[in-house]
Amino acid sequence: MSGDSAERSVELTQGLTRLFELEMRDGRTPPLEALEHIARALGALYQDVASAHRDPAPCPCGWVPTSDDPVRLAGALRGGSSREAVFGKDLRTMTPAGYA
Ligand SMILES: [Zn+2]
Repeated sequence: MSGDSAERSVELTQGLTRLFELEMRDGRTPPLEALEHIARALGALYQDVASAHRDPAPCPCGWVPTSDDPVRLAGALRGGSSREAVFGKDLRTMTPAGYA
């Protein structure tokens, strides 16, 4: 992983950790429920981005969403849930972004 890529991965992990902490701040939300909420928000973000890439007046970047995209996203979630794939970073070694 290059320096920029590694740095982005750490920033992404820290940002997601902050979202997870937000979801857990009531002290009663089960961890999996918090993660499911974040995953649904990611799915909704996908829908917003995909909509911006469809007619009329799609984004000019050239990306075209396909019906396979949700399967690909689910595969990325499965792949990321294996210990080796999580940016090589154990959350327990991270500095907390804040405390609830
Ligand atoms: Zn675009």
